[in-house]
Formats: sequence, structure tokens, C-alpha cells
Amino acid sequence: MRSGGYSPGSTAAAASAWQTEVRADLFVALRLSDLVNGPGISLREHVVSSETGAGYSRSEITFASTPTRRINAVVTLPDGDGVVPAVVCIHGHGGDRFVVFDSASIYKGFAQKLAGSGYATIAIDVGQHEVYEQGRLLMGERLWDCIRAIDWLAAHPRIDSSRIGCAGLSLGGEMAMWLGAMDTRVCAELSAGFLTTMDQMEHNHCLCWKFDGLRELVDYADIYALTAPRALQCQNGLQETETQFHVPLARRALLQIEPAYSDLGAAGCLSLHIHNGGHEIDLPALELFFQRHL
Ligand SMILES: [Zn+2]
Repeated sequence: MRSGGYSPGSTAAAASAWQTEVRADLFVALRLSDLVNGPGISLREHVVSSETGAGYSRSEITFASTPTRRINAVVTLPDGDGVVPAVVCIHGHGGDRFVVFDSASIYKGFAQKLAGSGYATIAIDVGQHEVYEQGRLLMGERLWDCIRAIDWLAAHPRIDSSRIGCAGLSLGGEMAMWLGAMDTRVCAELSAGFLTTMDQMEHNHCLCWKFDGLRELVDYADIYALTAPRALQCQNGLQETETQFHVPLARRALLQIEPAYSDLGAAGCLSLHIHNGGHEIDLPALELFFQRHL
């Protein structure tokens, strides 16, 4: 029995209170409470290299994630001096921050597409399977680095901090789920190739999603429900097999996300986009989603 499961039919106020409580419990389980509630950490950005010419600049940078740990990022910014929306672009297992720019990959180069369409983007690495700092958790460190990517965006004078989205596929879809759930600065979340149940993920999958206390608190649907009433699109492909991110299972999980969206008066902001492909991004649907919500 999960203690943090959502009770359908709650008032909007009770739904919001549930979200606040579950977020706090999850930050404790993720061993991030000290960072989340602590003083702001200076980014201390360093630009490694930068290039222009495609209608946007693309830079490789490093910045501080915690007081003692720095991370790498690829950031793009449209040419000109106007204020722009931004998307955190997140890769999956076996990839890195560069693969979301690769149009020949299962990511369809969605970061590059967004960069060329007037969005700022930031891509970081979340594929590590070792814990960097003592006392942390793998999933906690991955999520914190994603939160710091939003800190970077929010601090940039050309980025409209009221129009920040996140998108990812597979492990990246999982991290987009976590980021949208736990950081309310995200106003549009696209989570591809991930909507399923934790029971399903116990088998035939890398168990890096799991940590002490998680299953007692929530299932994935509850984590997604923390994004309500903000825009959320899940994408699942019809070619996903029964042991992977199978559409029938995604449909069932969706039914458990819907109540929080309805109770918060935002049923129209939640969608499951089912496409004909497999474990991949549906790029046209992604573009349409961000055009509409950012
Ligand atoms: Zn893994």
C-alpha cells in the first residue's frame, strides 16, 4: 500500500496540499531536502567552447551543481536579443547530453529542432550509475542536476522563466517526470517512452529507478500527478513490446493521473500521445506540444 497515493475526488485545495506533502516526502527519500531548502548555490559558470551559424549559438559550459561538484551542459540560444522560452532536453540510458541533438537517433534530434525553432535549450548528463557525493542517491543526484539546469535557465537574462519546459525519452522521460513533478518552475513537461507502472519496471529493466522508500510512497502515476495542473504530454509508441513501455499499460497508468488533473480543473492539460513508432520521440507531436504550451 502506498501512503502517498492520490485520493480522487479531492477539492482543488486538498489536491494542492497533497502535492506539497508528497513532494516534501519524496525530497526526503531522494536525500535532497538539504539542497532544496538550503541557501542558493552560485552557478560559477565556465564557457568551454561556443559556436554560432545555425541561427543560434551552441555552447559547451560547466557550472556548479552542488558547492563541491560541477556538471557539463550543452546550451543553445537563438540569435538576436529577444526573450525566449526554454526546454531542458534529457537523454536516456546509453546516451549523453549530445545525443538529443542527433537527428538520426531515437531522439530525432529534438534539442536541435527546438534550438532552430526559437527556443533556448539545455542538455546535461543523467546516465551515470555511480553516486558522486557521500550521503546522496543516484536518482537524487540526477534530479538535482536537472533542477540546476533550470536554475541556469532562470538566471539567464534572455530566458523567460515563466516559459520553461522539459522533455526526455526513456530514462530521459523518467527524469522529465521527476523534474516536472518536483520543480514547479516547469510549465510544460513531455515524457516519452516511460509512462508505465513500477510493478512493470521491477522486471526486464535496469533498477536504477528504485530507491529506499519510493514504492511505499508512490507509483509513477502519483509522481506524474504532481505536475497537475501544468501541461503534461506522455508519448508511448504502439511498437513498444509487452515487457517495455506497452501502450495498454500506459493507458491504465494514465487513468490514475487523470483524477488530480480533473480535481485541479486542468483535465485538458494532460494527454497521452500514442504514436505508430517504438521507443522513440514523436517529433511533430513534441513541437506542437511546446508551441501550444510555451
Ligand atoms: Zn539504469
